[in-house]
Amino acid sequence: MLKRFVANDFTFRLSVVDLTPTLMPIRHTRSWSPLATEAIGKMMTGAILMASHLKPGQGVGLLIRGEGALKKIYAEAYHTGEVRAYCSEPQLSGFPTVEEAIGGGLLSVTRHQPFQKSPFHGNVPLVGSTLDEYLEHYLLQSQQIRSIMTLSTLWEQEVPFPADIPSSPMNQEKTQPKWIGGYLLEIMPGVEDHVYQELKKHHQVQNSQIRVMLPTLFSKDPSIWASTFFNDHAITEIDYPYSIRYECPCSLERVLRSLTLFEEEDIEAMIQEGSQEIVTCQMCGEIYHISQEHLETVKSWLKNTKAN
Ligand SMILES: [Zn+2]
Repeated sequence: MLKRFVANDFTFRLSVVDLTPTLMPIRHTRSWSPLATEAIGKMMTGAILMASHLKPGQGVGLLIRGEGALKKIYAEAYHTGEVRAYCSEPQLSGFPTVEEAIGGGLLSVTRHQPFQKSPFHGNVPLVGSTLDEYLEHYLLQSQQIRSIMTLSTLWEQEVPFPADIPSSPMNQEKTQPKWIGGYLLEIMPGVEDHVYQELKKHHQVQNSQIRVMLPTLFSKDPSIWASTFFNDHAITEIDYPYSIRYECPCSLERVLRSLTLFEEEDIEAMIQEGSQEIVTCQMCGEIYHISQEHLETVKSWLKNTKAN
């Protein structure tokens, strides 16, 4: 679920997302560890928030190449609510924080725009002590946007309004996150810097209260939390007509197309061996069985490309 707002004095715009209903069913089927769930969930939240002010068809991909045990985490989101993610170590545990498991590294941001052949890429080192700060630093460095990013995970004992949380078998698991989401506040261009500094300071002071109150942003009248969250700036909701959903565009045809990266002889060898290949999509877990006939199809594609 995503809501968008603008400050009545046009000092900032804001997006808030509750990823819990989108993430929890996926987490369950993919058996991600609590640590990986938190890392993937926060990256997805960040990508959704950054895509929320783009246009339909546009999207954001976030890739962290960490030097630590968690290695790579990738999340991709589109303005219209589609999101998907991947983590190279989805069963990892034994680290006190996601950031320690990432262990420094690089953040690459891709902006997908329709009708543009090559997407925009930006690379920055991971600067700051939290994922939130890594993304804030990117926005400032690459896009000159002053922002406050809050990516939050609430664990069982912290969730303030259990009635708002969809009940599922995972809710009995003590170690899993029970709420994941966050918000992105972007200062408008031309706004004086002291306004930003005041909002930032306000967030630092109120941080623990804001974290626990985040789930209530979706069920209560936003005007009642303006003082807690936004230093008394009043806000107005802007329409966002899409739902947030985990969607992967993979298909058997795409998997077969990816096999054209091999040489014709390699495919021929696979046919001769009579091998049954199984390909699992890293984003959604879908399993594709590649039959002999499929391999023949790939071989004919490769033949045609050669002929052309
Ligand atoms: Zn997939």
